[in-house]
Amino acid sequence: MPDTYAFTPPPVVSVPVVGRSERFPIHRIYCVGRNYEEHAKEMGFTGREPPFFFLKPADTVVVVDAEQTAPLPYPSLTSNLHHEIELVVAIGTGGRNIRAADATRHIYGYAVGLDMTRRDLQSDMKKQGRPWCIGKAFDHSAPIGPITPAAQAGDIEQAALWLKVNGQDRQRSTVSKLIWNVAETIEHLSAAWELQPGDLIYTGTPEGVAAVVAGDVLEGGVDGLTPIRVQVI
Ligand code: MN
Repeated sequence: MPDTYAFTPPPVVSVPVVGRSERFPIHRIYCVGRNYEEHAKEMGFTGREPPFFFLKPADTVVVVDAEQTAPLPYPSLTSNLHHEIELVVAIGTGGRNIRAADATRHIYGYAVGLDMTRRDLQSDMKKQGRPWCIGKAFDHSAPIGPITPAAQAGDIEQAALWLKVNGQDRQRSTVSKLIWNVAETIEHLSAAWELQPGDLIYTGTPEGVAAVVAGDVLEGGVDGLTPIRVQVI
């Protein structure tokens, strides 16, 4: 550690862990694009393609504590803010070129997350062949609930996931419908980057993505994990 910094370094961003006093410090946030067939179709794509990835900075996380409603600021520059409910995988043991068959031992736990998306900006960037960052990696774009250690998470590969807005169903599917399952995703991702403890993987969203506006209350869950609740302000 140097004696002094030019300014105070930002704090480590961390997420609570269910049943433990330790918190999970975030290293990177990886996200998988179009990983449920019905969502790929609603975005105008068909067929199985290799998984692709984008990132969000660690400090885009909004920590949503159990039994709380976290405020979610409506971001700038958009008039089409979309919700994407996702299973989030928390990496506890890093590695590169991890085989799918070995992936489980790299997983610390699982959480419920929202990959909030400025869809209008993302669509503009796609049309122009430009990076998606402005559509995906904005401040407060990655709400996440407490992490449940893998051993307590039950059969996550078969779990239902769902999102309600103001009490109405918006997204409902099961993790078993992932095009690239969790282990396969870790295999592909770790071929491209060396995974580190503290990495989060937002695994993709099922169909039903749609816009939210200020005042909306979003409640989302994955069976076996702590659900999350946010209000757009
Ligand atoms: Mn997503």
